[in-house]
Amino acid sequence: MNRKEFLRLVSIGVPAGILLPSFLESCRKKELFDGKTYGGKVIIIGGGAAGLYAAFLLLKHNVDVTIFEAQGRYGGRIFPLNGFSDFPIELGAEECHGQRSIWYDMISSTPGISFVDTEVEEDYIMIDGSLKSLSSLSSDPDITAANNLSDNLGTTNIGGDITADQYLQQNHYSNRTHTYLDALFGNEWGTSNDRLGLQGASDEDKLWTSGDVNFYLKNHSFLSILEEKMPEVFAHIQLNTQIQNIDYSGSKIVLTDQVNNIYTADKIIITVPLPILRDGDITFVPPLDSVRTNAFSRIGMGSGLKVILKFSTRFWADNCGSIFGNGLVPEYWAPGVGGTSVENNVLTAFVMGSYAENLLALGTGMVPAILNDLDLMFGGGVATANFVASHRWNWGMDAFTKGAYSFPIPGGSGAREIIASSIGNKIFFAGEATHTAGHNSTVHGAMETGLRAVEELFKSA
Ligand SMILES: Cc1cc2nc3c(=O)[nH]c(=O)nc-3n(C[C@H](O)[C@H](O)[C@H](O)COP(=O)(O)OP(=O)(O)OC[C@H]3O[C@@H](n4cnc5c(N)ncnc54)[C@H](O)[C@@H]3O)c2cc1C
Repeated sequence: MNRKEFLRLVSIGVPAGILLPSFLESCRKKELFDGKTYGGKVIIIGGGAAGLYAAFLLLKHNVDVTIFEAQGRYGGRIFPLNGFSDFPIELGAEECHGQRSIWYDMISSTPGISFVDTEVEEDYIMIDGSLKSLSSLSSDPDITAANNLSDNLGTTNIGGDITADQYLQQNHYSNRTHTYLDALFGNEWGTSNDRLGLQGASDEDKLWTSGDVNFYLKNHSFLSILEEKMPEVFAHIQLNTQIQNIDYSGSKIVLTDQVNNIYTADKIIITVPLPILRDGDITFVPPLDSVRTNAFSRIGMGSGLKVILKFSTRFWADNCGSIFGNGLVPEYWAPGVGGTSVENNVLTAFVMGSYAENLLALGTGMVPAILNDLDLMFGGGVATANFVASHRWNWGMDAFTKGAYSFPIPGGSGAREIIASSIGNKIFFAGEATHTAGHNSTVHGAMETGLRAVEELFKSA
């Protein structure tokens, strides 16, 4: 999640209408839903951004809705770590991508909210054996080539349905920027360059309409925004309820949880993460057709973790945003930057795909190895000497997520449309992986799928 800001849509002259604030878009949706209601029982499976937002919309229209959430908490991949430092640290989603979205509107209309001023941040990169500011490398041809590809991915001719690594090799990108390129592409997309389908990533980039400025909250967690903006939803969640079977063979849909409790609904919205469906953790009667089950495997979602490291003193610049490594971790950042934290003495290691698997293979040696990585960058054994505590969250091992977020793989074209399609006017699919217009893998994208599923549900009623 790099902290670069580039107003690409503005600079290429997108017509003003497309840049209208998204609340106007929300009004349009409101009109669409005006007067709509549904008299049957709706069950939503999964209490993450998609499920919560779908429930919020249904409740606004007086629909009888319950969310079943497998875990003892709601929020899903919105998950703050409180008490580790003097500010809430996000173990999952952390930045609001763009200012034209339902999520941005919710955040920015929350009283007392403030954003980190990313203008003053400086990013660093470990290159040619030393740590340098990225701005000092603005005329370095290898850095320029990497940044150009990142800035222009949507208009780049990839030349085939290949991985990012294959594209970079074919086009002779320098080894000096190998890990930086992983940070910009694979890691950013929730994987590594050996797995990311670059054509799919380019297609997603082309469809992206939310704007390219990233926002970080200085004084709130993402979860607190959900709680503040959708308080009515929480009374309708049943926690610790893992749906294991869905029988939709009769006129009512019958759901069974992990202790064989039975629930019935007229319509359901399934928002569970892709691997839950891909791995058959929920069985269906009748079984899902093979076109859909094959599509589950044509989208990637796998290993990914954040390792949060606290130090007794800050040894990086006060305005340091990202630090791009060239060893074990493609990208670190200081989540307490910009006045978020008084001490600003925490670093987040953001590690996806094969990098995550390599780190996890070290077992208890993982944190010492990360500290050593930082020691090599900052010199003098400073990270190891000042290390206080760490906290890691491995999304690949989270039983109800089983991965970080969905990403394109070669051969995946059209798969999201298939998994997003409803079944028999009574089963609707939402969740970030079902976004078909480039906003997958984000919070606002997940919410947009919740909205789409509710729209479909009303249309089917
Ligand atoms: C490390 C990391 C960093 C990220 N950074 C960002 C970021 O900076 N910005 C951004 O916009 N996005 C980011 N994302 C992505 C974002 O968090 C997700 O796209 C979004 O939160 C997904 O919402 P969702 O509702 O689709 O899924 P989830 O939030 O995963 O919700 C699905 C819910 O379903 C539940 N569930 C699973 N199985 C069952 C079952 N059988 N029965 C009942 N419930 C079940 C799960 O427990 C979960 O609560 C990040 C994600 C990760 C992991």
